Formats: sequence, structure tokens, C-alpha cells
Amino acid sequence: MSRTVAVLGTGIMGAGMTRSLLREGFDVTVWNRSTEKAKPLADDGAQVAESATEAVAAADVVITMLFDADAVAEVMEGALDHMRDDAVWVQSSTVGIEGTERLVALAREKGVDIVDAPVLGTKAPAENGQLVVLASGPSSLREKVQPVFDAIGAQTRWVGETAGDSSRLKLVVNAWIATVVNGTAQSMALARGLGIDPQQFLDAISGQAVDAPYVQLKGKAMIDGDFTPSFELDGVVKDVDLVLAAMDTAGTDSTLATALRARLAAASEAGHGEKDMAAVIHAY
Ligand code: NAP
Repeated sequence: MSRTVAVLGTGIMGAGMTRSLLREGFDVTVWNRSTEKAKPLADDGAQVAESATEAVAAADVVITMLFDADAVAEVMEGALDHMRDDAVWVQSSTVGIEGTERLVALAREKGVDIVDAPVLGTKAPAENGQLVVLASGPSSLREKVQPVFDAIGAQTRWVGETAGDSSRLKLVVNAWIATVVNGTAQSMALARGLGIDPQQFLDAISGQAVDAPYVQLKGKAMIDGDFTPSFELDGVVKDVDLVLAAMDTAGTDSTLATALRARLAAASEAGHGEKDMAAVIHAY
């Protein structure tokens, strides 16, 4: 059974996933480009490595939770050579279709097994071991990675045998997330503009078929002006770009996604890129 895990990238998600693994009794070694973000995890029981190569050396499972495909490729180029022969690379960063293909090719070139495993859920589910893991890859690898998925997630959905299938599903979901957060911002701003308390909008739809927990959550953040990041707005811009590239491949009309991206980019350019995605309200 896989008990030794390396987590490369201890940002919002990687830090939460590390604490969930530690709570379930895994030996976890972490590495982060900016060491100061990894160090506090020592208090939770993690080993903090000086380099990615050092972090992966003893691991049964290596998780990458970095910003984008370029960051993952840059880190893993060196680290893959230092992984144990029987170790598995679990790639959980959101990197899109082309990014996943690039990373799978890199793993193959280095002779390392890889499972494509993007996650659904944000900061709180990562901290609480309540993520939904979307996994794809050869079923022969499942036994090795499932205990890790059980520690970080409430649910694992095996999407297919081909690494990349779950990254496709992740883009489908993230297109929806970008739509919901922009739709919420649009109605909140419209209410304000019409002289209606935006709380009235949230109350009017509360519990109805058109409501969603996410609308209430992000709507409240917009009212409170509390944009403490669960997922930084610039990360959503990155993801919508991945969605747009996927739409090109799929032949899906991208009019709406292009408009969503423009509002997110406007909020980012106005200085809100490092705030939570709810700060997109500033672009409305
Ligand atoms: P985050 O807090 O911004 O962390 C990003 C991580 O990437 C940090 O560890 C950062 O290191 C590292 N990084 C960035 N560029 C790098 C480079 N060139 N080389 C090495 N490390 C680099 O982001 P997050 O929210 O945890 O998200 C991580 C991944 O999960 C992203 O792909 C995101 O799309 C995905 N995701 C996020 C959520 C969410 O709700 N937050 C949900 C599902 C999936 P430094 O600390 O040194 O900058």
C-alpha cells in the first residue's frame, strides 16, 4: 500500500491536500518553489524538502499541484529521473488537453507511470479531504493511488483508461464554474444598478430550482467584499483559456466563454487577479 507521498506545490490546494494526507497517516514530503509557503506544513508533520528531486526520492506516489503545465514540466523534467522505479506520478494541476498530453509524453519518455487526476473542489474541501478526484489512466495503477485519493477526496470518479480523459472532464466542469460565477456577478451588479439590494436576489432564488450553493457562496462574498482567495481569479483566466482551446478542438461555439474570459481579464487588469474569483464583480 502507498504510504509515502511527495506533494510538489503547496499553494492553496497543495497545502490542504498535504494536511488531509497527514491526517490519514501518510508520510508526506513537500516541496514548494517559495520555501516559506512549505515550511508551516512541518508543524502538521510533513517533511519539507529543499528540492523537488529530494522530495520525490522515497515516494510511492508523487503529486504535482502547481499553477500550469509549464510549471509542472519545468519541475518534473528534473524530478522524474529521481523517482523510484515503482512510483506513480499523480498529476492534479489543471493543465488542459495539450498540457496533459505534453506531461504524459514526458512521463513516458522517462519511463514513469502517470495518472491524470485533476480535482473538483476548492480550499475548504482540499483542507477537509472532501475533494472529488477525477482520475484517468491504466486500471493497473488504481490500487497504488486509490488510498491517496481516499485521503484527499470524498469521491473518486474513474473517467477512463487513458490519461487525459479526466482533464477533458475537468474543463467541462470549469467552463460551468466560470459561467456560474460570472452569471452571479452579473445579476448582483444588475440588482445594485437598479437600486435593489443584491441580497434580495439571493433570497429570491434561495432553495429554488435556479439556485445553487455556489451562487449563495460567491454572492455573499460579493456582498461582503470578502475576496480572500479560495481560487485566485487569475487561475480562472488560465482555466478559461484551456477551455477555449478545448472548444476549438471540440468545435463548440465559444461566444459565451470568450465573453466570460473578457470580464475575468478586465477584473484582473483592474488589479484583482490575486483575489478570489468572486472579485469578477468588479468587471460588472
Ligand atoms: P496557488 O495557491 O496559486 O499555488 C500555485 C502553486 O504553483 C504554488 O505552489 C506556486 O509556487 C507554484 N508555481 C507556480 N509557477 C511555478 C513555477 N514556474 N515553478 C514552480 N512552481 C510554480 O494555486 P492553487 O489554487 O493551489 O492551484 C494549483 C492548481 O490546482 C492549479 O492548476 C489550479 O488551476 C488547480 N485547482 C485549483 C483549485 C482552487 O479552487 N484553488 C481547484 C481545483 C484545481 P510559489 O508559491 O513559489 O508561487
